[in-house]
Amino acid sequence: MGLTGIQILGKLPKKNCKECGFPTCMAFAMKVAAGQAEITACPYVDPKVVEEIAEATAPPIRTVKIGGGDFVYSLGGETVLFRHEKRFENPPLIGTYINTSMDEAEINRRIQLYKNLVWDRVGIKLQPDVVFLQSDGASEKFESLVKRIREELPQVAIILSGDKPSLQKGISACGDFKPLLYGANSQNFDEMAGLAEETKVPLTLLGNSLDELTELSERALQKGLKDLVLDPGSQNVRELFEDLVIIRRSAIKKRYKPFGFPVITFSYKYTDDYLLESSIAGMLIAKYASVIILSDLRAESLFNLLVERMNIFTDPQKPLVVEEGIYPVNGPDEYSPVIITCNFALTYFIVNGEVEGSRVPTWLLIKNTDGLSVLTAWAAGKFGADSIAEFVKKCGIEGKVKHRKISIPGYLAGIKGELEEELPGWEIIVGPREASGLPAFLKKLSAE
Ligand code: SF4
Repeated sequence: MGLTGIQILGKLPKKNCKECGFPTCMAFAMKVAAGQAEITACPYVDPKVVEEIAEATAPPIRTVKIGGGDFVYSLGGETVLFRHEKRFENPPLIGTYINTSMDEAEINRRIQLYKNLVWDRVGIKLQPDVVFLQSDGASEKFESLVKRIREELPQVAIILSGDKPSLQKGISACGDFKPLLYGANSQNFDEMAGLAEETKVPLTLLGNSLDELTELSERALQKGLKDLVLDPGSQNVRELFEDLVIIRRSAIKKRYKPFGFPVITFSYKYTDDYLLESSIAGMLIAKYASVIILSDLRAESLFNLLVERMNIFTDPQKPLVVEEGIYPVNGPDEYSPVIITCNFALTYFIVNGEVEGSRVPTWLLIKNTDGLSVLTAWAAGKFGADSIAEFVKKCGIEGKVKHRKISIPGYLAGIKGELEEELPGWEIIVGPREASGLPAFLKKLSAE
């Protein structure tokens, strides 16, 4: 069981010095207990106590990190069974495999897919982010494949599978970029566990059943290995679904240590039909894979999976936002129209899209409304005349345009008079209620 804030407070030096970034030790202890601050942020806690608290406040599913530099990926770290209870923490990595027995053309095709299949959605980049590299015994070839992947796909997490000489070469070809090793089973456990121990690389355990997986996990824990990933080796889709739910429930509800790790899955093992495979992968995103390896990358299916992943792994308590500021659209100059809206990401992208489509050079002002949409923000006092006026005065738009005209969303027509008083010298124009009305509105405005 985790520690309460009061129990953590009892272990702190109680200097109230604020060096941890919190006003008091009590405030800090509460945040640590809630998993919103790291105990290491207090420089005065004894290292033994740090270890004790870190262990007690760790999520029931361990966070395993792979990658390096700008591309560190966290697997696991989950604390709930259902997203509505709090949120899901770390989205599953999605990708495909490449093995040394493939011919050059196929390897090139697969690498190219990683480069081509990238989408931008509400400011978030959607792309495949892991590759499963398999050696068929040709360790030299495997080493050069790993080097090539690192060079050409530096952002992609790597999983290495094969015999020990290949894995050793693969790990050293990764340099500081930490791969994930696959997979220690009951036959090769000692060899694989030894390699993981020696190289400090996370290890996947592969069982033929949950019982065998438990046994392997207990052996790994006894050896002191902590960074583990599980493969339940399920034989069919139903079993896979049940295994994933049992693993997650056991870890979260019972704090069952052998299952307190992220899980890797291979959606293609259960069907030859790519559409069906995509549907299985969709299920795995929701329940409860941390890595999903597909047979191939196909735009029409991958896009759906990445959007599903993005939607499930956003925090339901935090709306998506864009940064407050001035956004030039279509190359505006000092005579271009100025419009303003809120920083709810969806509103921004819809408005920005319509303005871009109109081809009218425009200054788009985005005011921070804590991610609330126009009317909700107005009702919450975050998008009223006073706060809009304050933002317009301080944002710097007055230095960018020679005119003094600003258009507000049609839903805010009621604050026009008040805003004119708050912004003397500015003409307040009421724009359309819906973003779809913006192209015609802007064309008319710029023609005046
Ligand atoms: Fe208390 Fe440590 Fe934070 Fe100082 S740094 S306020 S001692 S928790």
